[in-house]
Amino acid sequence: MIKHEIVFSLRCPLCTEPIVLPRRSSLGIYAGPRFIPARIGQITLLCAKYGRMCQSTLENIVQDLFRPDARDRADSTALWEVTCECAHGSCRLPHTIYTSWAAGASQHEVVDLILQVEDTIRCAAGHYLKLRTGGVRARKLE
Ligand SMILES: [Zn+2]
Ligand SMILES: [Zn+2]
Repeated sequence: MIKHEIVFSLRCPLCTEPIVLPRRSSLGIYAGPRFIPARIGQITLLCAKYGRMCQSTLENIVQDLFRPDARDRADSTALWEVTCECAHGSCRLPHTIYTSWAAGASQHEVVDLILQVEDTIRCAAGHYLKLRTGGVRARKLE
């Protein structure tokens, strides 16, 4: 019998799919039966299902049951953290985008995915965030 593992998930505001959070990441940490979210306001998420960016807070985190063997499946997903900088003029403000994408993908695939999304999210200075090849880095959170 496979024992389920308790995990914490963020619900995607667009498609409501659960995004399993790693035990320790820039979004927060597991602390026994609770999840302590990082003290950050809004985060930018790329909804992999709809291919659209959205904003979320860390308030809609729920406890879920997860089958540990799901990690070994070919279609398993992981949380990816993509850091980029606004290419609007000389702005260069850093921005972070999270997305739930194939765990087996390469960093290049995830960077290409982000570069292909035509969407209107704003950098902290209020510009529509412009991305350019070379200024985007992806890292899988585990
Ligand atoms: Zn979604
Ligand atoms: Zn900017």
